[in-house]
Amino acid sequence: MIEVKNLTKCYGKHLAVDDLSFTVEEGQIYGFLGPNGAGKSTTMNIMTGYLGATKGEVLINGHDILKEPEEAKRCIGYLPEQPPLYMEMTVSEYLGFAAELKKISKEKRKAQIEKVMELTKLNPVKDRLIHNLSKGYKQRVGLAQAILGFPQIIILDEPTVGLDPKQIIEIRELIRTLSKKHTVILSSHILAEIREVCDHIMIIAGGHLVASDTPENLENLMSGASHVMLEVKASKEEIEKMLDSMSDIQSVQYEETGEETNVAYVESKDGKDLREKLFYAFADARIPLLTLKLNKSSLEDIFLELTQGGKEQKEAEQKLAGKEEEK
Ligand code: ADP
Ligand code: MG
Repeated sequence: MIEVKNLTKCYGKHLAVDDLSFTVEEGQIYGFLGPNGAGKSTTMNIMTGYLGATKGEVLINGHDILKEPEEAKRCIGYLPEQPPLYMEMTVSEYLGFAAELKKISKEKRKAQIEKVMELTKLNPVKDRLIHNLSKGYKQRVGLAQAILGFPQIIILDEPTVGLDPKQIIEIRELIRTLSKKHTVILSSHILAEIREVCDHIMIIAGGHLVASDTPENLENLMSGASHVMLEVKASKEEIEKMLDSMSDIQSVQYEETGEETNVAYVESKDGKDLREKLFYAFADARIPLLTLKLNKSSLEDIFLELTQGGKEQKEAEQKLAGKEEEK
């Protein structure tokens, strides 16, 4: 549905987006997650034809956003970070104007505007000047504008920024409703928000796509089920002998406790959860297993690891890159 290939954007000497490639399939909610300055808005502005790329291409349903902008843009509704609202218009005037810009035929205009105002709950304020609306209502007007024409793809840049918790919940509900009939891409620098609504997360940092997967897979990939901590009432040699005889183990690290119990950290192959297998193996050998604990890293840890840079980021990226090659 959307293909982004080797997208690169420089502002002067500053590289804001660095060789970004990804595809977007129909019917899902995608989240661009990344800290401020990661390149999310730049990417979205290029995808929607608001900004030219330095290199690379964007295809919307096969149409190049630069070479066939009309066809490509017809498939997209966009709410930019700063919505282009006309403060001196009323809500219905503005939506009428937006419908005209989108070349929605005169016969359909009225019904569509009504439908969109119903979805975004704008009816009570439809005759008010946009200037006089609260931030939450202004955001809804921006959203209504994006939805007009009911394009297949709806792209929302930080749709909940500056809203209060109640408004945030309402916008999230609206995004879920929209996703039943549209493919939605939204950006945020807040992990909880992306996890809450998205089927697929793309983590962007420093203009790079550092991860792209479902929330569940991201958690599993990044040492999700793969680390198990064992506390065993046996000598290190006995534990070693036991674990050496088992398959599916990638590596083991021992922690000397100096007591009659020993601690081992077991990493499995392919992220398998080995707890049951370990439990029965030690039970069969009549070796007392005192603790068996899965060390799961949260999406929070992964996000921080991937976006904070430095050594940890490199390791995390390598890990993900390795997984890609295996696929
Ligand atoms: P995000 O939306 O993830 O916060 P942006 O795409 O807005 O990130 O910005 C990415 C980088 O590009 C940042 O370092 C930002 O300062 C820079 N940048 C964005 N817009 C411009 C511009 N018009 N001119 C120069 N630099 C820009
Ligand atoms: Mg932004």
